[in-house]
Amino acid sequence: MDKRFLIQIDFDGTITEKDVSTILLDHFAQGEWRQLLTQYRNGQLTVDQLNIQAFSMVKASKEALIQTARKEATIRNGFPQLVSYVRENNIPMVIVSYGLDIYIRALLRDQNADSFPFHAAQTQYHPQGWRLHYTDPEGKPLKGNMKEKHTLNFIRQGYKVIYIGNGKSDINPLHHAFLGFATGKLARYCQKKNLDCLPFDDFFEVMKVLQTQLF
Ligand SMILES: [Mg+2]
Repeated sequence: MDKRFLIQIDFDGTITEKDVSTILLDHFAQGEWRQLLTQYRNGQLTVDQLNIQAFSMVKASKEALIQTARKEATIRNGFPQLVSYVRENNIPMVIVSYGLDIYIRALLRDQNADSFPFHAAQTQYHPQGWRLHYTDPEGKPLKGNMKEKHTLNFIRQGYKVIYIGNGKSDINPLHHAFLGFATGKLARYCQKKNLDCLPFDDFFEVMKVLQTQLF
């Protein structure tokens, strides 16, 4: 394979079947966090603003959050095989997510995939509620779409980005990708808008395309 390929992959709703942040907020948020979700869907909040405000309503411990994430989250079919595939073929893979570092690290470790770099919300437990912090690829406080900033950064480094995602925050980075894969809402959005991306339900389908198109 061309050495310049890099896979940028989302976590919630992409590596996992469902959005883990949503599961945790429904379990633990002490307040009307879904009002914030509506504001996000209406474009009144960005995804980082949504998560920062919603998780400030969560006072549960790290252990409780991870335990629930492990119990409720399902890893999408074919992910272990994708992990083996990219390792065998030396394809760099980076996870970029607006989700929380604590559960992403734990769930990746469960999949023996914690050697892959990931960028997510940096979290700090506080008795009054969790504190989230997002940074751009340079480590500065985030302004704009974190995922897109990473995509553009990888492109600047000379990579052809293969992008895999499922949601609204994946639309902008997908536009810059050499090859895009979409599942869930994003797949429907791409179809509606006639955007060039490949729909998938499991990672076996993604690997099939990578094997035939990239070698
Ligand atoms: Mg997602």
